Amino acid sequence: MRVVVLGKQGAGKGTQSQRLAARFGVQHLSTGDLFREAARRGTADGREAQRYMDTGELVPDDIVVGVVRDQLEDNGLLGRGFVFDGFPRTLVQARALDGVLSAHRRPLHAAVHLAVPTEEVLDRLAGRRVCETCGAVYHVNLPPKHDWVCDLDGGPVVQRDDDTEPAIMRRLELYEEVTVPILDYYRGEGILLDVDGVGDGDEVFERMVEGVEARLSPSPS
Ligand code: AMP
Repeated sequence: MRVVVLGKQGAGKGTQSQRLAARFGVQHLSTGDLFREAARRGTADGREAQRYMDTGELVPDDIVVGVVRDQLEDNGLLGRGFVFDGFPRTLVQARALDGVLSAHRRPLHAAVHLAVPTEEVLDRLAGRRVCETCGAVYHVNLPPKHDWVCDLDGGPVVQRDDDTEPAIMRRLELYEEVTVPILDYYRGEGILLDVDGVGDGDEVFERMVEGVEARLSPSPS
């Protein structure tokens, strides 16, 4: 299964795409997690990416596409199947992904759009806390069981450096400007799957699974 998950920051992409990958036994890949990890390790790409991330700007397409291409071709994601989370974010990235996939005759099955109104994502982002090591997402109103230590792997649960008000506003602005056109692109390709991302997380997940399953085995009608 090859799927990308799109949506505003705070729409639940991280949580839902991790669950989707686990349900279908494929690899979850978040470009944001990759860049944060590279920044922590202090690699040249990581330091460069950090400059953009801190202010909510997008990392340049050539860096992003290079990183994803490596994962697809050298790290075996093409064969194993994947759920991409936070990629693609620009039309250039979407077209580059299509290029790699069609060269290998392995097109996307679906582009899932998790739709959540802006007022709601602002509320979620202001209280968002994440595990520094595995990326699990919590909220000040829904904290981990023990004293800001991740339930899954015991990592420290913190506020992301880029969850500041100016960076959040900039990311939302960029989403409208450069990511929304991708929705039309995938709609034109006939693979866009709009999923209502409001409400109980388990219900959102089931809606998403149902839609993806229908794409994997389309009914004969
Ligand atoms: P995320 O964890 O998906 O919210 O991404 C955090 C930050 O990483 C973004 O605000 C961007 O600076 C950068 N980033 C992640 N994915 C991409 C991408 N596909 N294109 C450009 N920048 C990205």
